Amino acid sequence: MTMRKDFLPFALPDLDESELAGIREALNSGWVTTGPKTKQFESEFASVVEAKHAVAVNSCTAAMHLALDAIGLKQGDEVITTPYTFAATAEVIRYFDARPVLVDVEPEFFNIDPARIEPALTERTKAIMPVHIAGLPADLDRVHEIAKHRGIPVIEDAAHAFPSRYRGKMVGALSDVTCFSFYATKTITTGEGGMICTESDALAERCRIMALHGISKEAWKRYTAEGTWYYEIIAPGYKYNMTDVAAAMGLAQLRKARKMYERRKEIAQIYHKAFSALGELQVAGDRTDAQHAWHLYMLRLNLDRLRINRAEFMEELKKRNIGASVHFIPLHIHPYYRDTFGYHPEDLPVAYREYMREVSLPIFSKMSGDDVQSVVDAVTAIVVANRR
Ligand SMILES: *Cc1c(COP(=O)(O)O)cnc(C)c1O
Repeated sequence: MTMRKDFLPFALPDLDESELAGIREALNSGWVTTGPKTKQFESEFASVVEAKHAVAVNSCTAAMHLALDAIGLKQGDEVITTPYTFAATAEVIRYFDARPVLVDVEPEFFNIDPARIEPALTERTKAIMPVHIAGLPADLDRVHEIAKHRGIPVIEDAAHAFPSRYRGKMVGALSDVTCFSFYATKTITTGEGGMICTESDALAERCRIMALHGISKEAWKRYTAEGTWYYEIIAPGYKYNMTDVAAAMGLAQLRKARKMYERRKEIAQIYHKAFSALGELQVAGDRTDAQHAWHLYMLRLNLDRLRINRAEFMEELKKRNIGASVHFIPLHIHPYYRDTFGYHPEDLPVAYREYMREVSLPIFSKMSGDDVQSVVDAVTAIVVANRR
């Protein structure tokens, strides 16, 4: 076991000549904002996730904001989601002055616990937003059953979930709206970017209009031969459109998506094999009825069997030149949500307890065999040196 000499970052995008070629093409065409590349990216992405509509936007946050607008969320409404997520999932609910109702997670997978949704429903509940943490789908059948019974839509935060499957089907066409992220660290990237997928013509149309100033027809056609100068503003919309430069990157990423996924899966299997042999660790959860996208590898420490806490474990990884992270600091312990809604850490005990022992390890397709081995060696050495 030798220590690595250079620092292994926690995440790196997998970029090469193919993204550059696409970007060059976009620049040479003279069309740098939303145009033909964006259209093509939408249609190719829709076909990969088997969705009827895909609307490209400049972030997953924008996608979720538009989805909530499209379902008509209003001030004082409630949306059920989980504390175990990134800031974006709940902030978009607050944009409407609506209330994020945080429901605790399943201990095994960090995803929303369907058994806790029913008791959280009120007459003000207008939607359920499950988050597929790490790329492992939430228990959608049970979420859909509750939503259908109440006649409310399900909007998936699928920022981690490309390419994920749930009971054989791609995440992307399973709920009313599915929102993807192409942020720099996600499984495919456009630098910044997102996608709204839906089977509903009406929801797709509303999202498309609101993504570009509330203008009622495809604005990019305004300047082409078949377009005209006339347009109508039907609502005060937003400026959330994706650029063709970003879409060119997305198209190149899409072509490599299968290979990148296979490599992450391979890394997850290596981690699983190495760490399941250590009683001080709990390997990342997986489900037999799902395809995990492996955006994150969420290791857990069995703290009662170690002499160090999570912070010290992270410090040891850093000393050994391994970049690691923690996903996520539950929303309810952040000052804003704590103070606005009066949450205590123990109000959502599973999320709080699991957060305290979670460590995310590097898992990205550019990792070499030596990189993966260096993570295995470092984690193993830390456990061996600090077991009780
Ligand atoms: C990254 C992320 C988002 C936001 O994605 P952006 O494209 O950066 O807006 C939303 N939800 C989760 C769970 C994320 O990890």
